[in-house]
Amino acid sequence: MPVEQSALMEKLVALTKRRGFLFQSSEIYGGINGCWDYGPMGVELKRNVKDAWWRAMVRDRDDVVGLDSSILMHPMAWRASGHIANFADPMIDCKRCKKRYRVDEIDPAYEDTGIAPTVCPDPKCKGELTAARKFNLMFETHLGPVAESAAKTYLRPETAQGIFVNFQNVVNSTRIKVPFGIAQQGKSFRNEINPRNFTFRSREFEQMEMEFFCKPGTDDTWFEYWVGQRRQWYADLGMNMDKLRLRQHDQAKLSHYSKATTDVEYLFPFGWGELEGIANRTDYDLRQHQIGMRSVGKWQGQDLQDFPLVDEDKEEFSSGKLSYFDDEEKRRYIPFVIEPAAGADRATLAFLCDAYDEDVANNETRVVLRLHPRLAPIKVAVLPLVRKEGMPERGQAIYGDLRKRWNAMYDDSAAIGKRYRRQDEVGTPLCITIDGDTMKDGSVTVRERDSMQQQRIAADVLSRFVEEKLA
Ligand code: ATP
Repeated sequence: MPVEQSALMEKLVALTKRRGFLFQSSEIYGGINGCWDYGPMGVELKRNVKDAWWRAMVRDRDDVVGLDSSILMHPMAWRASGHIANFADPMIDCKRCKKRYRVDEIDPAYEDTGIAPTVCPDPKCKGELTAARKFNLMFETHLGPVAESAAKTYLRPETAQGIFVNFQNVVNSTRIKVPFGIAQQGKSFRNEINPRNFTFRSREFEQMEMEFFCKPGTDDTWFEYWVGQRRQWYADLGMNMDKLRLRQHDQAKLSHYSKATTDVEYLFPFGWGELEGIANRTDYDLRQHQIGMRSVGKWQGQDLQDFPLVDEDKEEFSSGKLSYFDDEEKRRYIPFVIEPAAGADRATLAFLCDAYDEDVANNETRVVLRLHPRLAPIKVAVLPLVRKEGMPERGQAIYGDLRKRWNAMYDDSAAIGKRYRRQDEVGTPLCITIDGDTMKDGSVTVRERDSMQQQRIAADVLSRFVEEKLA
């Protein structure tokens, strides 16, 4: 049954709190803006999203390897990557109501015109706005006990740079050859001006990024390939393709390092939003880190904002330390990079929005999360009809068997209808009921979440049956 989009977000926020998917961070202290905690159900769901990504991007492929780099990096990495100078959003404050806005969000034309609005967009306020200022989104922190500028570094705002700085290590420690990719998942931090739309824009979030290194000249083909692969990943996990679109960035508005960018967007209840960006980053990052490597020897702890990087020497660069020796071509070059960069929290939120459904059964509205079985936090629940006549013991034995292979749950705590509803609300694809007949002939009832149909299955073929249903 289609759920009214304007009401969906509110219903979803309530459901995810009620059933333990998502909580506001530090809620007992009144919360902290832009940070979220995943509860018992949410942590399983997000883990399944990340596992599905890892499987598709690393395990099922021969040409991509994994990495887990540290969140804190040498500050020069952020100078070289351009984040210290450029990772900033234009912001503006209202002098009357004190609200802070991202200028490009309240006036999309700002990017082209450079002319900032002057009056608060809040119709109830309409106060005068300050001039626009650049606000760097990186969180600063200090290494060691003395908060002096020499020890200043940043919480990473993306996982990608940890991959670039390890390019050489990975090439030297594996036998992998271009074209190949390095993938990583992990926390990133951005001091977003306006965290909002639930987990969509948070200050602490998790990314799933892959840098695919290829020979210059083959980059356009690989770019198209990865756009296709990434779209297909969402389709394979059951996403409604009417709500997914690819949006190519305008050539004129591309980031300084990018030759082409296409976003995968999902139609959230609050409008279209980016799930991931696929960018052709050219050889920008590896080149920059080569410059960074040469510059770091001259750095004595000065403010990195003004620290001049050693100039680029084109000839030397294609044979420098971060270049790659192609033994088929017998030459060195700096590989080009195609980057599919996704957000684990945004993907999780999109799958939740997509899965939320209501239908009417026995004159009652049923809330059901129609999650793909691979994403469902609990795959199968075992429910003894009553807490007597040996049913709990039999149920526990079946549960013990199933949990060896799947995340299963045992629940004997309320009327059976109520227990079904609970499982529907967290998206459990299968419920197994132990009843009087189980005690006589060993059969159990299997109820499917989506159709609510029930069938009797002999307990000794249950495992195979569940396996087929969850495939
Ligand atoms: P936006 O334009 O929405 O700020 P972005 O283009 O800056 O996003 P990227 O730098 O391309 O985002 O990061 C890659 C992915 O990381 C995004 O597609 C998104 O899924 C995720 N991501 C980025 N910022 C956030 C955030 N503040 N909260 C949650 N996820 C984020």
